[in-house]
Amino acid sequence: MAEVEFQNLRKQYPPRRGAAAVEVLRGIDLQIKDGEFLVLVGPSGCGKSTLLRLLAGLETPSAGEVLVGGRTVTNLPPSRRDVAMVFQSYALYPHLSVAQNIAFGLRRSGHRGWQQQLRDWLARNTAFVHSPREQAITKQVQHVAEMLNLGPLLDRLPKELSGGQKQRVALGRAIAREPAVFLMDEPLSNLDAKLRGDTRRQIVDLQRSLGVTTVYVTHDQV
Ligand code: ADP
Repeated sequence: MAEVEFQNLRKQYPPRRGAAAVEVLRGIDLQIKDGEFLVLVGPSGCGKSTLLRLLAGLETPSAGEVLVGGRTVTNLPPSRRDVAMVFQSYALYPHLSVAQNIAFGLRRSGHRGWQQQLRDWLARNTAFVHSPREQAITKQVQHVAEMLNLGPLLDRLPKELSGGQKQRVALGRAIAREPAVFLMDEPLSNLDAKLRGDTRRQIVDLQRSLGVTTVYVTHDQV
């Protein structure tokens, strides 16, 4: 958990096809408290995603700083910022099962030597070898799946899921990593009205119980 701060943050996209440069963010100063759920609402094109992508490390600012937990992360890659992003498009790996998608960030994090990698591979691919690391990952995946009612779906592929289920898997993948900050970019917009309401409530409940600082951008005033 951590607070987030933008200091005089500016973002200008370079000119394209003869058009002038676009200055999207002009000196944003904003402090988001530890554990706060901040929703940024605004019309399409006003710069919400740009701000989120700057926080995630998917874009670099033209000027200014981004801080997470008091640490300047402006020039760090996404993997070193301790943030997890949930996109409108779910961004699941189509060839991986629900369980593998949720575990993805856990298996990838940290540097492993070849012996550890071999042990992990054996543990994943045989019925009788269970490295402590794989056991911890399996436990974490089950815990998150229970939280999101995904238990019975762990062996399915994304194409075998409904839109709402896919978005819950995307949320699960973010939650499993236990990041300091959740970033959500219109995570409900591909869902129908009823599911959108249910999932919205679920996100609020989850955020309250986990207490993780969350920045949520949407054009949806509801
Ligand atoms: P929002 O999320 O509020 O809809 P965006 O942050 O996606 O807005 O975009 C803000 C503005 O920046 C828009 O005018 C958009 O066209 C422009 N923009 C976004 N990404 C790029 C890019 N990679 N290159 C040039 N312009 C961009």
